[in-house]
Amino acid sequence: SSFAALQLASPIITALTDLGYATPTPIQAQAIPTILAGKDVLAGAQTGTGKTAAFALPLLTRLLEGQPAQSKHPHALILAPTRELADQVATSIQGYAAHTKLQTLAVYGGVSQRPQTDALTQGVDILVATPGRLLDLINQQALELSAVRWLILDEADRMLDLGFKDELVRLLKRLPKQRQTLFFSATFPKSVKDLAYSMLNQPEEIAV
Ligand code: AMP
Repeated sequence: SSFAALQLASPIITALTDLGYATPTPIQAQAIPTILAGKDVLAGAQTGTGKTAAFALPLLTRLLEGQPAQSKHPHALILAPTRELADQVATSIQGYAAHTKLQTLAVYGGVSQRPQTDALTQGVDILVATPGRLLDLINQQALELSAVRWLILDEADRMLDLGFKDELVRLLKRLPKQRQTLFFSATFPKSVKDLAYSMLNQPEEIAV
């Protein structure tokens, strides 16, 4: 199988060629067609499986193929447990989007807020965030989430381990109901399954 056969947008294929990605990993081969079809996904995947590209490549394709953005507010929100993961995910997406105009920004706590609010003002298509800083920005009205059509949870089990359950529940209430949700976790204890089923709509389950 090849990336070209997966019907990704051509600027994305060009970026993959630049990066030297020749073939999709198993999670990419399973998740990409499902996400392009607009379905919710519940995916079990460890780090190192290529899970970031598994959600980012179809997300970028759908953002490119949709109506031109009417608003400067984020269309996709990716939640990550730590600053390091948020940075890593944003950097990966910027690489996959290198031949597009789509803007990706990471926001997280432990650093000053001003550069993040300034960048938000410039306009962002894809926002990668840790839950605590995201809620701070929402509460200060520095961020508008009404344009969000895609919600992705990356390493959901670690977010719960780090005590972000309440933040996640509060965030969910602020998000449009009309959206596609993609839920990634390495493990599925009951707490993770409960969270997943509270936010997903008839998800396709993928395990690698
Ligand atoms: P992840 O599981 O998302 O952290 O990705 C693990 C590593 O694999 C990252 O360094 C990616 O750049 C790389 N990677 C992801 N997908 C592919 C692919 N299809 N071919 C080659 N490398 C890949």
